[in-house]
Amino acid sequence: MEHYDVIVLGVGSMGGAAANSLAGRGLKVLGLETFEPGHDQGAAHGGTRIIRQSYFESPEYVPLLRRAYDLWRALEEESGRRIMELCGGIYLGDPDSPTFAGSRLAAKEHGLDHEVLDADEVRRRFPTMDPADDALAVYEREAGYVRPEETTIANAEVAARKGATLRFHEPVTHWQTTAGGGVRVVTTQGVYGADRLVVTPGPWAPTVLPELGLPLSIERMIFYWFTPEFTDAVPYASWSEARHPVYIEETHANGQIYGFPMTDGPAGGFKLGFFRKGTPTTAGTIDRTVYDAEVEDMRERAVQLFPRLTGPLVQAKTCLYSVTPDEHFVIGTHPEHAQVQVACGFSGHGFKFVPVIGEILADLTIDGRTDLPIGLFDPARAVLRPA
Ligand SMILES: Cc1cc2nc3c(=O)[nH]c(=O)nc-3n(C[C@H](O)[C@H](O)[C@H](O)COP(=O)(O)OP(=O)(O)OC[C@H]3O[C@@H](n4cnc5c(N)ncnc54)[C@H](O)[C@@H]3O)c2cc1C
Repeated sequence: MEHYDVIVLGVGSMGGAAANSLAGRGLKVLGLETFEPGHDQGAAHGGTRIIRQSYFESPEYVPLLRRAYDLWRALEEESGRRIMELCGGIYLGDPDSPTFAGSRLAAKEHGLDHEVLDADEVRRRFPTMDPADDALAVYEREAGYVRPEETTIANAEVAARKGATLRFHEPVTHWQTTAGGGVRVVTTQGVYGADRLVVTPGPWAPTVLPELGLPLSIERMIFYWFTPEFTDAVPYASWSEARHPVYIEETHANGQIYGFPMTDGPAGGFKLGFFRKGTPTTAGTIDRTVYDAEVEDMRERAVQLFPRLTGPLVQAKTCLYSVTPDEHFVIGTHPEHAQVQVACGFSGHGFKFVPVIGEILADLTIDGRTDLPIGLFDPARAVLRPA
């Protein structure tokens, strides 16, 4: 049986970063993955993910984001791939909405560079948008997007260059701890041993970590690319990343949407989605068809903020959220096995943290602790325990 210092189960967003970080610290790493790097079956496809620092989910995430930004730049450098684009970000809506008020709170608490804009100023700067007259916005220059497929491929390439063995198209069917304090991992093609295990299964967590009984809601989400109507007053350039920020809008009446500037030319479509509003499913049974009624629902909501988003749908794709009851992540040592680290439940907002989660998982694996603040993510916290 081949023996490694550490096995990473699931080389997707977080597992790829963990393999990279662990190999970088000199460990003999084996990564096992069902699909190939950059695949479209989990949580890490669709071309773009928002990255921002004025974090309405909680100001406690900001130190992790600062570290993540440094590590994103390092990953670009090491891989030679273009991954992060800082085109600015705007978080707007009802003045007391979490999206506006929470973003402003995080920005103020951490002294982040930001501006508060009223509706007229939003319309003047970003003529694609027509928010309600009483809407307010936080605008943040140091925000934008990262490319998920490029990220996963970059982490896999760099990890392999640092000596990691990565086996794709090789799903893990079973893992167990051994009497000697290590782990034994069985795949469709072999059996491997290691001193440590990192489990990063994304939306497959309920089947890979059933013993934890995590109350995860695996949800079918959709992103849509619509064609805008280009006019003299609002031409293609106004929709493109040269001038348009990433955005999140929330109103009490109409919920929360998010999206991106056009990144693939005038024919590529303007991408957006509902932030929440997923349908419960499983990674094995998700319905990948996007129905006309869903497209109409999205269109109806989208034109409330973007009245010129009236052209044809270019494409729509499904993706999987893994949502915890408090929407904070699950990261830490397995409650029953000290040699196993787990990271899952990224609740639809984890991608921007990818490289720092890799670093945290390497810290936990090697030192059993990390200096990075992960108190919010404790796998044994009350909301994750069965009632
Ligand atoms: C529609 C949508 C929009 C999003 N937008 C944003 C955003 O704008 N900003 C942001 O920060 N985040 C966003 N997210 C969230 C972010 O993409 C996820 O939090 C992140 O990708 C989760 O990473 P993961 O490693 O947990 O899962 P994944 O990237 O899916 O990786 C899990 C991997 O484990 C593998 N695996 C599972 N079981 C096994 C097994 N038995 N054997 C071998 N391999 C296995 C899978 O094949 C997969 O490759 C969005 C998510 C979705 C779905």
